[in-house]
Amino acid sequence: MTDTEKTARPDPAASPDAPMTTPAGADAFAGFAIDFSRDEGVAGAGVAVASTPAAGVPGSASAESGGRTEAKVLIIGSGPAGLTAAIYAARADLAPIVLAGSAAGGQLMITSDVENYPGFPEGIQGPELMAKFREQAERFGTHIVDIDVDRVDFSRRPFRVWARGTEYRGDAVIVASGASALWLGLDSETRLRGRGVSACATCDGFFFRGEEVAVVGGGDTALEEATFLTRFATKVHLLHRRDAFRASKIMIDRAKANDKIEIRTNVEVDEVIGTAKVEGLRLRDTKTGETSQVPMGGLFIAIGYKPNTDIFRGELDVDEKGYLVVEDETRSKIDGVFIAGDVHDHRYRQAVTAAGDGCKAAIDAERWLEAMHAQEAGIGSAGATKAATA
Ligand code: NDP
Repeated sequence: MTDTEKTARPDPAASPDAPMTTPAGADAFAGFAIDFSRDEGVAGAGVAVASTPAAGVPGSASAESGGRTEAKVLIIGSGPAGLTAAIYAARADLAPIVLAGSAAGGQLMITSDVENYPGFPEGIQGPELMAKFREQAERFGTHIVDIDVDRVDFSRRPFRVWARGTEYRGDAVIVASGASALWLGLDSETRLRGRGVSACATCDGFFFRGEEVAVVGGGDTALEEATFLTRFATKVHLLHRRDAFRASKIMIDRAKANDKIEIRTNVEVDEVIGTAKVEGLRLRDTKTGETSQVPMGGLFIAIGYKPNTDIFRGELDVDEKGYLVVEDETRSKIDGVFIAGDVHDHRYRQAVTAAGDGCKAAIDAERWLEAMHAQEAGIGSAGATKAATA
């Protein structure tokens, strides 16, 4: 998700006008290890979902999950959506299991200061916030397993999910596997994430007051972010690798009319320069191959997002952008499988909206389970299932 949180950010307390000064590496988060090695050039959103099935690999339920592999509610994902769902499900006595992913915590784990999550007027570090979510979920009996999901089978109940060879079963499932921001894939970009490299202008723009920044991309996101950044930056360089834009004409016109934005086409970022923070960019002309170096205070990558939906394809519907399709707030096309957070939301992508979604999914799952129970006991009606989520 994006946020005033989102990608790793600087320390505004140090200087409100300073660009990212807080490193995105593990040392930035005082004890929270952040392992970018699993990050496919990406800022994970909800949970790392393994793309390679590992069925058949002997797993150890007791080692991985304390022996508990069955739950009334199984939650896939441990970002704000998954863990909020866990808090609600646990407090409803549903003793959920969260399959958190090996890089648990979602996008906030690579975020430094979060200033727009309500309740933290001074701001909070992303990993610290996620640790609090986790502690709160565990306090009420959530069982969290830091493991990637390899495969799911939602064709019959109980629903089955495999992670490192272990089969988990849930009477209901909440999918909160998040989305991942796409990155260019440069080593220097990864190294300087949170030190001037960001994937979220809404989140980090504030920290670039008085700086000159660049935005990479030619879609609506890039144009929108470039325009937004002019509130803070002295100049915004929009860098696009082609001379034709995917962005809508109105967005392009708006950017062109803004004298703080300089649009540069047929150019790509070859290298992000800087040691402690971004100091410049080496650019490459995509037509001539010529390189040049420019000083720059920040770099915003706006080349799209990838929802973590690969393992659900064939089971759940995805839209044309690859996001899960949600009906009636949190329901999927399968009764008993609910969806929450960035894995379906490409509009808001905020921690607080994802958390709200997780809450809704847990309440819907609880009501659905109650209705199923009533049906099984012969006291429900045929319409109970639908009514449960209405
Ligand atoms: P898009 O896929 O539309 O655009 C991505 C852009 O990034 C493209 O210009 C692409 O270049 C460029 N790109 C991709 N990979 C690289 C790379 N490795 N190096 C350099 N450039 C790269 O994504 P958006 O996030 O912009 O938009 C997604 C959807 O959300 C769109 O449908 C958009 O309309 C919508 N949206 C709507 C908004 C609004 O209405 N206010 C705001 C934001 C998004 P190339 O063109 O060469 O492939």
